[in-house]
Amino acid sequence: AKKLLEVDNLQIRFRSRDAQVTAVSGVSFSVKEGETVGLVGESGCGKSVTSMSIMRLLPGRPACRIEGNIRFEDSEILELTDRQMRDLRGNEISIIFQEPMTSLNPIFTIGKQIDEVILLHRDVSKREARALTVEILGKVGIPRPEAIAKSYPYQLSGGMRQRVMIAMALACQPKLLIADEPTTALDVTIQAQILDLMRQMREQTGTSILLITHDLGVVAEMCDRVLVMYAGQVVEEADVGSLFQEPKHPYTIGLLESIPQLDRKLERLNSIPGQVPALANMPQGCRFAPRCKHAMEQCFTHNPELIQMKDGHSCRCWLYDGGGACNESNCVVGS
Ligand code: SF4
Ligand code: MG
Repeated sequence: AKKLLEVDNLQIRFRSRDAQVTAVSGVSFSVKEGETVGLVGESGCGKSVTSMSIMRLLPGRPACRIEGNIRFEDSEILELTDRQMRDLRGNEISIIFQEPMTSLNPIFTIGKQIDEVILLHRDVSKREARALTVEILGKVGIPRPEAIAKSYPYQLSGGMRQRVMIAMALACQPKLLIADEPTTALDVTIQAQILDLMRQMREQTGTSILLITHDLGVVAEMCDRVLVMYAGQVVEEADVGSLFQEPKHPYTIGLLESIPQLDRKLERLNSIPGQVPALANMPQGCRFAPRCKHAMEQCFTHNPELIQMKDGHSCRCWLYDGGGACNESNCVVGS
């Protein structure tokens, strides 16, 4: 399949009066047509910042400086005018966030907000727009869509609001849907329903999805390929099968070990001791070294490169230096 989105050597820096921090350093990946790619890591690893840069939702210079390339089809996103970007956003690319309440306007009805999206992107009358709105609300499993269209965001539950957000994102049949922790704020049953819905939508429309999550369980259910991010860098990339069967990076292995078996409510990635380093205080060598039980001397002084280990599977770790042959005495795989 063709590449729809191509992010190349993305660097994102934030500057305040007295400090400059790098939130994303040299991230590259692509999303092909029809593909669902997961971006995984604990919060503070740069996942959301990466997705917001694709939507050009970060502040401009000098507060924020973005370098590298973000290509969407034939457009270089970082070079588009604001107007061109507005056309792309919500039309070709849509985004849904974790807390839909913050992205819905409290003073307008649900129906009006979806109507507006449709009117902005399609050449239809107001009445036709409302008919489409009701149809889409029905498709995302909202009961009595006509009545719900007349209600306000606060009158709906969190799960309903997230359905509305998905309806809104899909109202324009985007080629790429960016979903940033779309189910994190919802309870387990609703989570499952929303994921189902996204899967159905993908099957019906062929939409590509960039799914941002801290939850490897969600990745397993939804994604074709995964990038694991840590402290602003990609530390491992693989297709879902290889990632779960042969995880390479100690951080990925830690994340996998912290998937709870029973009660998903208790889900916290706290089985990896320590925390993601502060942006202003990045370790000099491997950024995971302070938390890694396999850390060696060189790990504290030199940051390894992301190396290709075998087809489509890459990893950033000194344990695998030397082209993918694991140094036996240090091997973490299977340990
Ligand atoms: Fe651990 Fe060293 Fe690999 Fe970093 S490079 S993950 S510290 S073994
Ligand atoms: Mg986030």
